[in-house]
Amino acid sequence: MTTLPDLTRLKPTGGKRSSKREQIVNVFLRQEGHLSADDLVDLIRREDHRISRATVYRTLQWMVDAGIARKVDFGEGRFRFEHSYRQPRHFHLICTNCHRSSEFLSSDIEALIEEISAARSFAAAQSVVQIYGTCEECRTGRHPAVDEGHKDLLFARDALRIAIATERSGLEFYTRAARLTRDGRGRKVFDDLAAEEKEHLSKLETRYNELLQRDPQLESRPTFLFFKGAANGLFAEGAERLLKGVNDQQALMMGIRCERGSHRFFKKYGERFEDSEGKQIFLEFADEERQHLELLIREYRALVKRQGRVRRPRRHGAPAARAAR
Ligand SMILES: [Zn+2]
Ligand SMILES: [Zn+2]
Repeated sequence: MTTLPDLTRLKPTGGKRSSKREQIVNVFLRQEGHLSADDLVDLIRREDHRISRATVYRTLQWMVDAGIARKVDFGEGRFRFEHSYRQPRHFHLICTNCHRSSEFLSSDIEALIEEISAARSFAAAQSVVQIYGTCEECRTGRHPAVDEGHKDLLFARDALRIAIATERSGLEFYTRAARLTRDGRGRKVFDDLAAEEKEHLSKLETRYNELLQRDPQLESRPTFLFFKGAANGLFAEGAERLLKGVNDQQALMMGIRCERGSHRFFKKYGERFEDSEGKQIFLEFADEERQHLELLIREYRALVKRQGRVRRPRRHGAPAARAAR
């Protein structure tokens, strides 16, 4: 279900709150998908035939300015409107036969758009990705088994799946690192981190199951968030490299690299997403990874110091300074 925005907070300066406006906003927020202005007029008129077309149009524009609605152009010669309040920005697949659209999000596409804009010194304000073609139902005549459902739930589901996959590979990494670390304190750090990853993992899984209770079909709904990026592989690659044999310092350094990559990844995308549960999940996860990163950096420095004292004098600081960056 869509949460109703606090209209007093969203009111743009100078805007006047009227009961008509509230009525129109409420009807709009009860709808799913992409409405044209005329669709909304029809819906409103069913409830209250005294509200004029001009009032609906004006209110739609107000909702766009207030961040409640987003204007989308599917190339039909008129705009459509979708919810934007606490909804992630997303891309569309549009069927040119039945004019229905489905939605997805891709961090890879977003990253590419950012890369291209940066390469051209272009300050991108908005990007729109629309894929036109024929939907499955129009092509085959078969109804899809499940529809898309609510995109905020899909987004939260997919964000949790990615976080869980990362946490699993992190657990694997630390368990393996603890096994092959000879230094007692270093081994304890990895053991502790493995225990922490395990705990986080079970928290994330609980959250995932809670989400499934909000929509029993959620598991089988189509993917919303497409990631080809490093999320899954961040720790998996490190865990793989541990098998080739590393010393204690190298193992810590690899942990630092994995946590840093993971922290940056979740923070970068979390910040880019619009206010939503999925965004929250990413930012919370980024924060946990940062704490692990800081812990590992401290341990790395301590280990270098200890080993430096026991073995041979070495140039202090260089690798640790690199690690701290
Ligand atoms: Zn179609
Ligand atoms: Zn949409």
